[in-house]
Amino acid sequence: MNLTSKKAHRKLSLTHYIFIGIFLGMLAGWLFGETILPFADPLANVFLRLLRMIIMPLIVFSILSGVLSIGTGKSLGSLGLKTFLYYIISSMLAIFTGQILVNIFRPGVGAELGLQKEVEQIATADQDFMDFLFRIIPENPFQSLAAGDVLPVIFFSILLGYFITRLKSQQRTTLTDVIDGAFEAMMKLTHMIIWSAPLGVFGINARIVATTGFDAFKSLGFYFAVVLLGLAIHAFFNLPMLLRLVARVDPIKHYRGMFPALLTAFSTSSSMVTLPVNIDCVTRNSRVSKKVAGFLLPIGATVNMDGTALYESVAAIFIAQVYGIHLGFGQQLIVVVTALLASIGAAGVPMAGLVMLSVVLHAVGLPLEGVGIILAVDRVLDMFRTTVNILSDSCGAVIVARLEGETLEGMGTAIEEDSRD
Ligand code: ASP
Repeated sequence: MNLTSKKAHRKLSLTHYIFIGIFLGMLAGWLFGETILPFADPLANVFLRLLRMIIMPLIVFSILSGVLSIGTGKSLGSLGLKTFLYYIISSMLAIFTGQILVNIFRPGVGAELGLQKEVEQIATADQDFMDFLFRIIPENPFQSLAAGDVLPVIFFSILLGYFITRLKSQQRTTLTDVIDGAFEAMMKLTHMIIWSAPLGVFGINARIVATTGFDAFKSLGFYFAVVLLGLAIHAFFNLPMLLRLVARVDPIKHYRGMFPALLTAFSTSSSMVTLPVNIDCVTRNSRVSKKVAGFLLPIGATVNMDGTALYESVAAIFIAQVYGIHLGFGQQLIVVVTALLASIGAAGVPMAGLVMLSVVLHAVGLPLEGVGIILAVDRVLDMFRTTVNILSDSCGAVIVARLEGETLEGMGTAIEEDSRD
């Protein structure tokens, strides 16, 4: 077997193993119910703890290393602008897709739904967007780091990285060497952790199937299907179109290398936990430089959530339909804007989107109890929207890399050792 086919074989194997892990996990959860948990939970916990272990150090070193290789303030600004534009455009495309579908199919009209949960039991989000912006500036970066508060850590790392580039040549080179080395080591560790994914996803999916009540899907099935359709259109039409038109790359080649990250997102429902896997797939398989991936993906994992944005707008309008409240053009516009803000504000953790939904409902004057209506199917919807969140982050990295002049040669074939910057 020559070297290339050996590598391709290895990459495919991991993806296959993860698929098998998910399938067997679901099967075991279904067959054995909660008796599988003592066996499934330890597997899930080891995998999740390993990933969580690496998130914060990975974010610090990937952002620092990204900013250091970007170099000047001007290039940093230009990369930042492209990133920002991609986030806004892709999220808006997602929101419009959802909004069109929910207005065409009107899944909430005439739906017979009792409240599934009292609203007091449901967390609602802090409404103040200005406060959210202020909190990006850490009062104590070390505290933010220890608390796993991602945005303040990113903010501080960008500033620190920028000022390292302003140091005298010798200091700059020494620090850059150390930081690049640390990032490289984190990536190697990440790659090792990813090989535990098949067992981890087995455990996670067994728990989900063993503990989720599927009865709610009968009454909420139509709503569920509309969100899924929207997510599918975004994943298989909108994002590939952006990849083709803006990045001029073959979407299939990119998607093929993304399976480990997408399946991890699907299983964990957490963009943050999936971040290490995403960086690994985007750099190793889609050949985006560590400079772009290391800078974009940590920010994207918390700020760019297309799946969540789409879901926010569909859920809010669905709830209005259930209550028989007509939303005019102005109010639908408010849903668009607040769905975008809610998706930016949502943390990359399970069910964060549901909590942020209260922001959208509040903005258009819908009853907050509405959250209780959709709660029953949210855990499963979260799996799909998180997958789309991760997919969109990865497409953003590819698009921005291409706009930065990267060729991405070899996209779609895994590389073992990536020594590029
Ligand atoms: N779980 C999602 C994520 O981590 C956020 C959400 O709940 O929509 O990306």
